[in-house]
Amino acid sequence: MSSNSHVLVLNCGSSSFKFALIDSATGHQILHGLAEKLGHDDASITIKRENEKNRLELGKNNQHVDAIKVLVSTLQELGLDTNIGAIGHRVVHGGEMFTKSAVIDDDVITAIEAVSALAPLHNHANLIGIKAAQLAFPGIPQVAVFDTAFHQTMPEKAYMYAIDKDHYKEKGIRRYGFHGTSHFFVAQKAAEWLNKSFETTSVITVHLGNGCSVCAISDGKSVDTSMGMTPLEGLMMGTRSGDIDPGVIMYLMKRYKYDANQIDDFLNKQSGMLGLSQLSNDCRTLEDALNDADNEKRLAAQLTLEVYSYRVAKYIAGYTCALTHLDAVVFTGGIGENSNYIRDIVVKHLGLLGLTIDDCKNQQARFGQAGAINDPTSRTPVLVIPTNEEWVIAQDAAKLTKGVK
Ligand code: ADP
Repeated sequence: MSSNSHVLVLNCGSSSFKFALIDSATGHQILHGLAEKLGHDDASITIKRENEKNRLELGKNNQHVDAIKVLVSTLQELGLDTNIGAIGHRVVHGGEMFTKSAVIDDDVITAIEAVSALAPLHNHANLIGIKAAQLAFPGIPQVAVFDTAFHQTMPEKAYMYAIDKDHYKEKGIRRYGFHGTSHFFVAQKAAEWLNKSFETTSVITVHLGNGCSVCAISDGKSVDTSMGMTPLEGLMMGTRSGDIDPGVIMYLMKRYKYDANQIDDFLNKQSGMLGLSQLSNDCRTLEDALNDADNEKRLAAQLTLEVYSYRVAKYIAGYTCALTHLDAVVFTGGIGENSNYIRDIVVKHLGLLGLTIDDCKNQQARFGQAGAINDPTSRTPVLVIPTNEEWVIAQDAAKLTKGVK
């Protein structure tokens, strides 16, 4: 990267992409936004800058590349196009090929294509974004930052499934883990908070957003995480079931003739908070429903949030066996950063580990407020740290492209 410190971060989904223009030196977000419903007649792009928000309909030109063109012309109009030194892409699956971020060239694209079989929807969308950005920003170096890379330090005992080993050797079926940039970011911040070097810090990080995962980090390295070969394993999530007996799948296929697409839809889109509550995939809505006049709704929301929190606590307790010492438990993600209700239930399940919560601090640590929420008697600090995956991507992109033209 030249002296230009701004990095455009792109996070592409199959019909949407999020973007942010970030000063990689400070983490300041200069501009950010979202293009959505791409490929549909009502596709749009929303660009936010300071207190301004502009939404544009994309009309017939509604593909990823069209939305990126609109973004480029907006950056030009605002005079923000000249300072961009690199483009950073979030890429979901790096398989075993990528243990760290990589400057994108033809070989890297071929390698991302090669691991795409493991996450076809995600990686395909990421590649669309990469190719569209190459067209829109010729000459600006691009970097791929993988959700899986941070977890490549997991030992075999954590990443192997107990299945016929040939399935690992021939088909790559193993646990990979996701949300790596978020776990890494908040663990680093926790080390700063603890006044320790990252390399000697051991924490359990708990990312609770629409997708949810827990990570055991031993001396700065991921040693276990709850998502698996795909982001379906582990915790209960907004619409994903998390851990489930695979026998349920066989039962649904044999007895009720579900096909692979129906199973996929059922476990990824109709389960989790949405499926169990039959109300919503959104934690806020469920917390509101705890006070609903309708008894049935109230009980459904209560059960859903109890199952959710209990499962989070079980993973935290389980991951203590991956560590030799525990410096802190760290909550992050939309729910982890904002829901004092969920944090309270989770921590109260962990009394045997000596964790105790301070109600007042727990209520205060919301809406971007970081801090400790444990009571002074707690054996281990419990922290709330807002995540910032975009900044990790921007910093990696800036670091890797230093001096690259
Ligand atoms: P994503 O994984 O898509 O990035 P987020 O990290 O933004 O999602 O998390 C979204 C979740 O955070 C939703 O379930 C939402 O209800 C929850 N959330 C956001 N704010 C609050 C809040 N104040 N109280 C409880 N839950 C919240």
